[in-house]
Amino acid sequence: MTEIIPVQTGRPYDIHLGRGILNDIGSLAASVARTKKAVIVTDTNVGPLYGAQVRASLEAAGFEAPLYAFEAGEASKNMQTLLALYSFFAQSDLTRADLVIALGGGVVGDAAGFAAATYMRGVDFIQVPTTLLAQVDSSVGGKTAVDLPEGKNLAGAFWQPRMVICDPDVLHTLDAENIACGMGEIVKHACIRSQPLYDQLVACDDLPAALPAIIAENVKIKRDVVEHDEREKGERMLLNFGHTLGHAVEKCLHYNGISHGAAVAVGMHLITRYAEKNGLTPVGTVTQIDTLLTKYHLPIDCPLPLTNVVHAAQNDKKRAGGNINLVLLRGIGDAFVHTLPIADLPAFFGV
Ligand code: NAD
Repeated sequence: MTEIIPVQTGRPYDIHLGRGILNDIGSLAASVARTKKAVIVTDTNVGPLYGAQVRASLEAAGFEAPLYAFEAGEASKNMQTLLALYSFFAQSDLTRADLVIALGGGVVGDAAGFAAATYMRGVDFIQVPTTLLAQVDSSVGGKTAVDLPEGKNLAGAFWQPRMVICDPDVLHTLDAENIACGMGEIVKHACIRSQPLYDQLVACDDLPAALPAIIAENVKIKRDVVEHDEREKGERMLLNFGHTLGHAVEKCLHYNGISHGAAVAVGMHLITRYAEKNGLTPVGTVTQIDTLLTKYHLPIDCPLPLTNVVHAAQNDKKRAGGNINLVLLRGIGDAFVHTLPIADLPAFFGV
């Protein structure tokens, strides 16, 4: 069964979610396309798995569908890949009326999305997320970017897709580490917005069977937040729960040896533990979070001395001005922003 989830951003679009829906990509794309050309952008892992299927569906619907696959991995989310994409678009005679199809995880979605946002001042694109993280998080909300040597996601744009096509069946080829990574964002959504989702995750004893419904629920949570705050001026900040310290952990480890999901898990644990100590979150909340993180194979222990992590977070945010916004919980499903002078961050964590 296919579910259609509308997103009312400045440029509205629908998320089509359903098992096996990848085979319908041609007819779905045709429903929003202005021409019969669609460039598929993917990576070297996803291309061999799903490229031919997507291309066949597009061609059956009358599209010319050239495919470009860049080397899989975060290291490819950079300016060189962006330039290669622009060249491929130009060589494929892509015009502003045509389509870009981003087929892959968050790296493909972010890089292809930014290429689409900037090529000829903006080409329509369709997100076809193939990781759990991309399905529940990065494909919804219109943030696109590439990394610079100086930092992650520094060059980017808000560019809403024309459509998102989300097929949970593609997750059967995803490895356990990437499933856990997506589960980190799902736990985050439950923590900030939904006690029922939290309860469902605690009770769940067959994740693969439950995933399509869980994905739909998470897409709606992210959709609701993004609709209220498309450009991250307020409410969207809540999606950063666990990310301030999570990013700091990733940075200290030079983005090596810990996945983003694992780092966010550690970040959610730490921020809640210390919010409890500061009397800002009810005691017992961190135990509730830990229960889920552990169940879904995510870490809670910080792999580095806390002092190093807190100082990295402090340095990172110094550029943003005198204050830091911490996302804390009043309880499961109820997040709020606590603003603190950056200089007070070490005291908050008792370091
Ligand atoms: P990823 O795109 O690198 O995918 C992880 C790995 O899984 C890659 O090796 C990929 O080739 C492989 N893969 C993808 N789909 C597969 C499938 N179905 N079967 C087998 N292998 C598959 O990483 P990710 O975790 O999806 O995304 C991380 C990126 O997302 C980061 O760059 C992050 O900054 C970005 N992100 C963006 C947003 C946003 O709002 N735009 C939000 C969160 C994260």
